[in-house]
Amino acid sequence: MKRYEIEHDEAGWKALLTPAQYRVLREADTEAPFTGEYLDTEEEGIYRCRACGNPLFRSETKYHSGCGWPSFFRPIEPGAVEEVPDTSRGRVRTEIRCNACGSHLGHVFTDGPQPTGLRYCMNSVALELELEEGPAE
Ligand SMILES: [Zn+2]
Repeated sequence: MKRYEIEHDEAGWKALLTPAQYRVLREADTEAPFTGEYLDTEEEGIYRCRACGNPLFRSETKYHSGCGWPSFFRPIEPGAVEEVPDTSRGRVRTEIRCNACGSHLGHVFTDGPQPTGLRYCMNSVALELELEEGPAE
């Protein structure tokens, strides 16, 4: 099994996360569509992993896909996320995990906009938006 930079045992993760966060991040559950707190968010900033704080996506790459979950066309850096083949639920999909702690974030699909053609379909509950500081007055 892959070793991650940040690891906790089950009790450790449960102490850090709310039950809703734990279900998605550590048990690969999916939040209900059109319910997540970042679905329509347009504020500028960096979306970090809710479990470990690893920077994952920039707001400039977020777009309205209509799929019901926050969608991005590119991670902040190629190594920020890990792609893992997922054949659960009788479908072949590509799971996206945080590359620092291995927590489940969502899936990536190939129906996204240019320039990448990718749709990183993420669970709001797995993310935390760090707002960009405005220009100094
Ligand atoms: Zn993480």
